[in-house]
Amino acid sequence: MAEKEIYFRDRIATSDDQGRRRWVFAKLPTGKYTTRRNVVALILLTLFFVLPHIKIQGEPFLLLDILNRHFILFGAIFWPQDTYLLGITMLTLVVFIILFTVIYGRLWCGWACPQTIFMEIIFRRIETWIEGGPAKQKEAKNHKTLSFYIKRLFKYFVFFTIIFLSVNNFISYFISFDGLLKAWGEGFANNNIALGVLIAGTTAGMFIYTWFREQACTIVCPYGRLQGSLVDNDTIIVAYDYKRGEPRGKNQQGDCIDCKNCVAVCPTGIDIRNGTQLECVNCTACIDACDSVMEKVSKPKGLIRYTSEKGIKEGIKLHFTGRMAFYTVVLGALIIFLGFLMFSRTEMETTILRTPGMLYQAQGTDSTSNLYNYKIVNKSRKELNLEIKLVEPSDGIIKMVGHSPIAKPESATEGVFFVILPNNKLTSHKLGVKFHIILDGKIMEEQTASFLTPKTNN
Ligand code: SF4
Ligand code: SF4
Repeated sequence: MAEKEIYFRDRIATSDDQGRRRWVFAKLPTGKYTTRRNVVALILLTLFFVLPHIKIQGEPFLLLDILNRHFILFGAIFWPQDTYLLGITMLTLVVFIILFTVIYGRLWCGWACPQTIFMEIIFRRIETWIEGGPAKQKEAKNHKTLSFYIKRLFKYFVFFTIIFLSVNNFISYFISFDGLLKAWGEGFANNNIALGVLIAGTTAGMFIYTWFREQACTIVCPYGRLQGSLVDNDTIIVAYDYKRGEPRGKNQQGDCIDCKNCVAVCPTGIDIRNGTQLECVNCTACIDACDSVMEKVSKPKGLIRYTSEKGIKEGIKLHFTGRMAFYTVVLGALIIFLGFLMFSRTEMETTILRTPGMLYQAQGTDSTSNLYNYKIVNKSRKELNLEIKLVEPSDGIIKMVGHSPIAKPESATEGVFFVILPNNKLTSHKLGVKFHIILDGKIMEEQTASFLTPKTNN
């Protein structure tokens, strides 16, 4: 292979042999996959912009209020007491990412990653609309005229507007949309962090989409780098069928006519015919480009397609393997398990313990008492007037020190009470006692503890 043909082994496609930036002027793709990706992007963008405005019973649908240490998911509030859920979510996410990538490769990168959606579906389109296609952009960059600067300025203005609005929307996931309006109303006087995020996010957005662009995927993104160690010969990838395509060229027997249309549309500037490369974000642009060429030369579509390394080598069509089914079931089970944990958690948590260091107290001549500490964590936004009821043994009584527990919203309430049992019921040195925590006549929780008595076991 000639030296210039094997450059992809030595450096990324967007740098020359001196390490200088090679600017990518990618052509906008059209075709079946591009249409589907546009629809997916439209749905995801709509969700992104609409979610902060949705409320369930007065609570935001989704709020990640890190500063005040609580999250709202689907209208349910999660407090620091639910940290174990965060831990399980993180673990699930890691397992999910690994299994998903092993089977589906970079499906996320091509279809759902915000970087790809903003860069390829929004900004590259606007750029082509303002500055023209790749040839015009290249020409204008090499021969800068007044029109170039005016168009560039206009392009930056449009980019800035979109980025600025998107960053504002992003911030509303953390301080709510009402919080964002309030912050703007106060000129961010009481919300320096939000102002910092707004400035940093808009600056970073402008830097990425006007200059850094595809390098975010090829150099910076850790998920992209992780792929190399997760994909294998069975992973689904966008790949060129070298068995069918080679030898390439107009008068060759292979199906590839070497038109380079697949290279022209590639947003990371690579030639997919060189095999799987770290720059490939599986965006499917080259599939659409090549399919339209195959149609014109009356050859079957799919010279570049979703397949696997093994699929090409052994000429097998992409199909749902046992391994894919197993991993997909595991992924589904993980999500269901997490969903169950999240939605089965209660809005309050009670702990009742016998007061440490205390034995028992004689209550007159016929009864004995033990002292207990209770702690009630109320995760709701309502005040809860609770009752602690002794259910076992049934002939004992509870004597609260102070009033019955009133659990303040979003906080922990603590207190003490006595359990008094008649001496004729004290059958051993240590008894079990059972409590019900009752709200509006409904049993919310059941708790057990021990009761010490003066009786000695023999
Ligand atoms: S090689 Fe194809 S799938 Fe990969 S980034 Fe380029 S155009 Fe997208
Ligand atoms: S678009 Fe298809 S035919 Fe044209 S160079 Fe690429 S792989 Fe070959």
